[in-house]
Formats: sequence, structure tokens, C-alpha cells
Amino acid sequence: MAGTMKGLCLNESQKLELREFPIPEPKKGYVRVKVKRAGICATDIGYWKHGSDRLQLPVILGHEASGDVEKLGEGVTKVKEGDRVIVMTTYEVCGECHFCKIDATNLCIKRRGIGSKENGGFADYVVVPETSCIKMPDSMTYDEGAMVEVLACGIHAVAEQAPVTLDSVTLVVGPGPIGVLASLAAQACGSKVILAGLTQDVPRMNVAKSLGINTIVNLQEEDLGKVVSDMTNGYGADFVVEASGSYPGVRTALDMVAKKGTLCQMGVNHGTGEVDWSIILNKELHIIGSLSQKPTAWIKAKNMISEGKIDVNPLISDVMALKDYEEAFGKAANVTGFKVLFDLEK
Ligand SMILES: [Zn+2]
Ligand SMILES: [Zn+2]
Repeated sequence: MAGTMKGLCLNESQKLELREFPIPEPKKGYVRVKVKRAGICATDIGYWKHGSDRLQLPVILGHEASGDVEKLGEGVTKVKEGDRVIVMTTYEVCGECHFCKIDATNLCIKRRGIGSKENGGFADYVVVPETSCIKMPDSMTYDEGAMVEVLACGIHAVAEQAPVTLDSVTLVVGPGPIGVLASLAAQACGSKVILAGLTQDVPRMNVAKSLGINTIVNLQEEDLGKVVSDMTNGYGADFVVEASGSYPGVRTALDMVAKKGTLCQMGVNHGTGEVDWSIILNKELHIIGSLSQKPTAWIKAKNMISEGKIDVNPLISDVMALKDYEEAFGKAANVTGFKVLFDLEK
């Protein structure tokens, strides 16, 4: 198909720009997806404000997308035209490096993801390999489809990387969409969850409360240490998920985690910050990172949403047109919105 489409890119000067792009053609093994919904992630905000060596500019942003398969490249057999799909973020992995061989494709040394190195979902169309498409159950909405990535990040952290255990206590620092969904995933694993945030996060923490996260702490008004101590007989949290990406958040995590406990970093930190490294030795901690997600986590996330075990809809604060991208990014960046989605048909 000749013609052009609109795409919201981070341009050569790292500025957001709505630009005309040629409609991409799917090569062998790839498909073109007509995008329906695509979510703004804290990662997109970070790319815009701080840049990243993961970027190859100019690039259309957006790695949380759902839509309809619209054109098949040669040799595609796993999906057909008209299939409603969730788009996974992998555009290309080598299949040969050590990490591909141990099924950690999120760490492939040659990985290219959509919305960072390859054009992503903030556009009318996105091209991905057929292996990056997950068929959406009929009952699943495009809104929910675009949220699967966010839950998959949480599931990768608490069910695959940490992994949290039955009847443990998990503290999640940072009540953004990632922190709230990681909290729900940890509860689904049988852990008791404390979610901590700041006064600015109160509207988000109220949504978290409505979703059934029982213990929610405003760090600026309550004594988190006492809450954690009361719930753990003074030992500290078995697991701490740092989902704020801030150094004060990291320091809180190190303070609150129990001896022999696990600290899982999933918030994206920018720049460097001071932490007391000796705590790791003194508490014999396990420090673990959780970067994006793997296909295993995507499938679990899709199932949990479609089976009604986790409701992602209350997190969606705004569904906006791509042309209103400045307002949309402003809402997502300033915590006035919660999860902001683009509706590519608006
Ligand atoms: Zn994301
Ligand atoms: Zn590889």
C-alpha cells in the first residue's frame, strides 16, 4: 500500500514531533498491524526528557499497543488478516547469543524493540514479526490489550525474577501503573502487599485501594517503618519492589527490606545517586533487576486480564487522540493522569 501515515516520533533533536511517515511494508515473517490503542509508558517520558542509549533517532515511540493484523508478509502462518492482537515489543532478536539460548530474549545482545530502535505504536500502523503477536480473546478490549505490557512487566518482576513466595510480605515503592500492577501480581502470588507513595500519588493510591490492595502508605504522612515492622514481627519486608525509579525510593527499599530479603529494581533510574551499599552486605541481600518482560510473562498477563483476575481498566485515566500528544504526555509526566492511552482512530 502506497501512502503515508501519521506517527508521533522522537525526532533527531529528541523532541516530540507528529510527522508523516511512509506506511511500512511487512517483510518475510512480519505483519502490519492497524493500531487501535497505544499506552504512554514512564519509559517514553524518560526517553523524551532524558534520552537513552537504547534509542535510535528519529523513532516513532510506543511499545504498549493493540490492534488488528492488516497485512501479512511472506511466509506468515501464525496469524491472519483481521486477527485482533496484542503487540509484543520485540522487533528482532538474534536467536543465537547466550541470552537467547537461555530464553532471556529481553537481554539479547542484538535485540531491537519497537518504540526505541524500531518504529513503534504511536502511529496508524506498526510492523512486527508474527512471533510478536498474541491473539486477543474475544472478550478482551483494545484498551485492555494495550495494558497487557504493563502487567507483563509486573509479572516478570514478581513471578519470574524475584520471585515472591506464599504468605510473604512484599513492599512496593512507587504507585505508578507499573507499581500498582506489580502489587496486584504479588498479591496474586499469595504475598501480602504494602504499596507506598507520596502525597502527589494519593489519587493513584485511591485507585489501588479500589482494586483491593489493602495496605497503602503515604510516606509523607505515615511511618512506613512502623507499618512494615508491625506486619513482619519487626523483621522487615521479605521482598521489596522498587518501582519509582528514584534514589530516595531505592534508599527506602534498602531500609525496609529484611535480612536475607530480596530487592527487585524495576523502576528506571536516571543518572546516578547515593545509596548505602554496606546494607547489602550487612543484611545479606539478594539484589535483582527486572527489565521489561519475556513472552512467558505476556501470556500470563493476557490470561489474568481476560480471566478477570486483574482488572486494568481503573488505571486508564485518559484515552486521547494522537494530535493531542502534548497534553497527553503532560498528563502522564505530571502525575495528573494515571495511564494515558492514545486512540489511533480518534
Ligand atoms: Zn511500558
Ligand atoms: Zn540474542
